[in-house]
Parts: sequence; C-alpha cells; structure tokens
Amino acid sequence: MSSPPQQYCRLTELLGEIVDLNNLAAIAYWDRQTYMPSGGASARKQQLTTLSSLTHKKMTDPTIGELLEQLTDYEDSLPYDSHEAATIRVARRDYRQAKRIPPELVAQRSEASAEGLQAWLQAREEADFSVFLPALRRNYDVTRRIAQALKPDWDPLDTLIDRREPGFTASEVGDIFSQLKEELLPLIDAVSQQAVDDSVLHQHYPEQLQWENTLDAVSSIGFDLEQRGRQDRSVHPFTTSFSPDDVRITTRVRENDFSAAFFASLHEAGHGTYEQGLTDELCRSILGQGASGGMHESQSRLWENLVGRSRQFWHFFYPRLQKRFSSQTDGVSVEDFYRAVNRVQPSLIRVEADEVTYNLHIIIRFELENAVYSGELSPADLEAAWNDKYSDYLGITPSDPVQGILQDIHWSGGFGASFVSYTLGNVISVQLFEAAQREYPDLLQQFERGDFCSLLKWMQTNVHAHGRKFKPKELIRRATGQDLSTVPYLNYIRSKISDVYDL
Ligand code: ZN
Repeated sequence: MSSPPQQYCRLTELLGEIVDLNNLAAIAYWDRQTYMPSGGASARKQQLTTLSSLTHKKMTDPTIGELLEQLTDYEDSLPYDSHEAATIRVARRDYRQAKRIPPELVAQRSEASAEGLQAWLQAREEADFSVFLPALRRNYDVTRRIAQALKPDWDPLDTLIDRREPGFTASEVGDIFSQLKEELLPLIDAVSQQAVDDSVLHQHYPEQLQWENTLDAVSSIGFDLEQRGRQDRSVHPFTTSFSPDDVRITTRVRENDFSAAFFASLHEAGHGTYEQGLTDELCRSILGQGASGGMHESQSRLWENLVGRSRQFWHFFYPRLQKRFSSQTDGVSVEDFYRAVNRVQPSLIRVEADEVTYNLHIIIRFELENAVYSGELSPADLEAAWNDKYSDYLGITPSDPVQGILQDIHWSGGFGASFVSYTLGNVISVQLFEAAQREYPDLLQQFERGDFCSLLKWMQTNVHAHGRKFKPKELIRRATGQDLSTVPYLNYIRSKISDVYDL
C-alpha cells in the first residue's frame, strides 16, 4: 500500500493535539474527584472551561474541514475497516457535530450544567424537587436546542441517543426495553416472594482489608495495576484514562456493606480493561476511545456480573476472602455466599440495585424522558410520574425525592438519553460473553482456577482493539456474527434466577 498523502498526516497531527487536550482535561477531572482540596474548586472549574473551549476551537478549525474535503478520494480508495478510512470517517462525524453547535449554545450548555448542579445539590439538601425544577427545565430546553442544531429534521431524542449510541434510535431502544420489561416484571414479582439471606454481606468489614481485597480482585481479572493503572478512592466510583498505558479507576469503601467496594471495583476495572486494551495504533488517535457508552458498559457489566457474580468465580475467590475475613465468613459456605451476592430485591436506589431490577430503574428513566420529549408529560409532573412508575414496576414508592427523582446527578447536566447505555450494556455483555464461550467452551471452568486470560484476550481482540472504528451495532455483528438481540440476556437472567431461587 502506498503511504498516506501529506494531508492525512497533517490531519492526524491536528487530531492528536485534540486528544492531548482531552487527556489533560481528564487528569484535571480525575484529580478534582480524588485528591484536590475543596479550596481548589473554583480555579479548577476555570481551568476545565478553558481546556474545553480550546478543544472546541481546535475541533472546529476550518483547516480540519478542508483536509477532510481533500481526503475524500483517498478515503474512498481504502477498505472501510482500515485504520486510515475509519480515522477520516470518525473525524468527519466529530467535526460536523462540533460545527453545528453554535458557540453561544456551547456556553449556554456549560452555564445550564453549572446551574443545574447547584440547584440539584440544593434540592437534595431541602429534599424538594421544586427547587431543582427551574434548572431542569432550562437543561431540557438547552439539550433540546442542541439536538435540533445537530439534526434539524430528526426527532430530538433520536439525535441524543445517536450521539451517545451511534446508530440507535429511540424506538429501537424502546423496543429492546419493552422486551426486557415483559420478561423481567413477572420474574421480579416471583422472586420477591422468596427470601435469600445476604446478612454475610452486611457485617463489619474493615476498610483497609477491603481495600486490599479489591486490589487483589481487580488484578486477578487482568486489570494491570503494576505498570499501567491504579485505583484510588472517590465518592462516586469512575474510570478515566490519560492513555492506554495510564488508566485510573476509583472505588468507595463502606465498612458495613461488602458489595459496595467489591462490585464497584470490578465494574470500574471492567471499564479499565477496555481502556488498557486500546492498542498502540489507537494511542493519540481520535479512534482511541470506547465505541459508545453502551459498549463501555458492556465491559464493566461483564466483569462485575457475568464473572464477579458467577459461581465459578467464587469457587476461586472465596478461599482468599475467607483468609482475609475469617470471622465474617465463619460458617458461611461458598454456595451461601454465591446466593447472597445474587439476591434480587426491588429497591429505590439505582446504583445499589441488583443485576435484575437494575434494568427497571433505567427503563423508568427512559420512559420519563420519552414522555417529556413527546410532550405527554410536563417536567413539573416528573416527580409524580416517577413515583407512580416505581410503584407500578417495583412495588415501592420513595418516601422523599432524595430517595427518588433527585438520586442521580445525570439530569443536572442535561436531559435526554442520559441512562440508556447502562441497560444496553447489560444486553450486549451477555451476547459478547456467549460468543467468547463459543471459542472457549471451558471458559467458566477456567474461572474456577482463577484464569481469566482467555476471556480478556477475546474482548481485547474483538472489542477493545477496534476503539471507535465501528459503530456499536457493526462492532457487535463483527464480534459475535449476530445482530444485537435481547434473547441471550433474557436466557441468562432466567437461568441465573432459577439457579439462585427455587422457581
Ligand atoms: Zn459503568
């Protein structure tokens, strides 16, 4: 193959600078959430705003537009899945999106988010949704106008979903969610009649030992803590990376709740393996990110649930746990422990929900966003609609809005398509896992020996190594040979539930 034209080299140089700025912003963000003293807040906000406006300026530089124009023939001459063609294709998408949002709307977006965060914190303090409502309305308005600026002929919610999950529409997501709801609601109803004893998880687990336990778990599954990553503490666990060779995860420890730190660490390490799996070729490239929120979430859910809540994983890890926490696990068999970490119980808080009811939390939020965008529901009526849906689907009603509509930070920074990725990730995770199992039929037995290499290698080859080269649906088809489907997920949940419960 001939070497790329000089316009291509110039383009990747300019894109590389944008990637550098984004990674520097990630360092500033990571530091703010982990070690920054509270006094640093206002200076940090300014620094992050400057970085984001610099990035926007660079991304909308007309030179990029001209280079993309000049590279059309070169792109057409390349195979669709080549690195160069994908770089040009994705850069064109990013460039057009950035160009279509007028600078004043960018400024309004950041003001509305800042105001939204303040109002959300205030409303939580007063446990009063009406305190948040004006900021929520403004966020809805700004988000909607951004969607209209991006694609004037599209339904705004479709545009917002396409931005987060390229290639998906609101009605497709709605179909997937309806299929899940139809199966999961009766299942949740059935298991709610039975009790699983999870008291072993709610004993006193000393912080330092829990910390060591999480480090042991995440390095066991293959997250590189030695040379290319680290774990720190933060209020809300998250993952960020500054390059594939420097990936940061965080967790939080609660001494009376074993699951909080353990499963948050496994979840974030799952995100972390994705970031560490972006190959050298993707370093400093516009393709060097996960394919979408849902694809990223498929990796975190895979390690948190399909691995971390499997019987085989606990056959491997439980003896280590017993050594660290001998009094807490005294008289508790590995089977008891496996059942405890798989207990299904409707609850009010999304981030604390079990594997099954979690999806209902997402479906409720999506249905509410949909109702607002279609004009059926006014933002002022969101709280009542929220409470009705919790009562309908999960049989519980929040006693105050902090336990209800004010629990998530998401709607303080924008309104629309804010949660869909989480449940799409659940669905995708099982489909990918089954494809890996077809290649390694003894995958689960490998877990019993503490061997997770085959699974990780499969994900690296079939998912991570492509970065953002393909849209999620293309990536799933290439990786599994099938279109996205809820069937594997629903089969998995049914067999898991009947294994843990007496159904
Ligand atoms: Zn996640």
